[in-house]
Amino acid sequence: MKHFPVPDYHIHTYLCGHASGQPYEYVEHAISLGFSEIGFSDHAPMVSHRDPTVTMAMDELPLYHKMIEQVKEKYKDAITVKVGIEADFIPGYEAQTEKILQAYPYDYVIGSVHYIGDWGFDNSDEQEKLKKLNINDTYRAYHKLLRKCAQSGLFDIMAHTDLVKKFGHFPTEDISDEIIATAEIFKECKVAIELNTSGLRKPAREMYPALATLKLFFQHGVPLIFGSDSHRPQEVGMDFNQAIAAAQRAGYRECLRFRQRKIEEVVSLV
Ligand SMILES: [Zn+2]
Ligand SMILES: [Zn+2]
Repeated sequence: MKHFPVPDYHIHTYLCGHASGQPYEYVEHAISLGFSEIGFSDHAPMVSHRDPTVTMAMDELPLYHKMIEQVKEKYKDAITVKVGIEADFIPGYEAQTEKILQAYPYDYVIGSVHYIGDWGFDNSDEQEKLKKLNINDTYRAYHKLLRKCAQSGLFDIMAHTDLVKKFGHFPTEDISDEIIATAEIFKECKVAIELNTSGLRKPAREMYPALATLKLFFQHGVPLIFGSDSHRPQEVGMDFNQAIAAAQRAGYRECLRFRQRKIEEVVSLV
């Protein structure tokens, strides 16, 4: 059987309101692909507002942990299942976010910027706004938030670090100064980035981040993990061969495994 040397750390559950299937189906698909480790990282309860189609609710958090514990135990001889979470970075709500993240133990916490102000820029219902704004300014505002997200100290891994491109809107000028500033902060704050394959399934038709951005992160010594951002069982590990090849093209030879919010192992990609 084909064996995947790297774990898939970005997997959702139906609790977020926009994913399908049961956790065991995600786990069984991972086993069938030859994964020896995966991690769930569903959308943590939103601190700024409540939207049952975007994240789990506060009172669903115990069920999330129970569900993951169950599959972890059930499949322990076949695969290691880690417990992670993907939490939004909303400036001004750091204390509330921290409280949620401290309520349960995690193997890793993924920090995400899905909002610029109260604009959910990656929500298909709100994408019209992208056309009205200067796209380069939007990328710059997004990078500013990415840096604040890392500097908050709340997160171990930074998610999909060029998500603004999701609907196919790319910068029209060179923004490598922003990317370099972000890479420097990520290195300083000791956060990893993820290479997220879900962008291939979106109008952007490329992974998050783009290869040129990934190269800059590598050159600044920012460590890497891999994520499929699965919202359906069959998306687990999707395009991971392509992702590993892209990481190697960017210069990466290793990725990380996490346990209890610490680096457990540096895994060779070759
Ligand atoms: Zn989601
Ligand atoms: Zn996300």
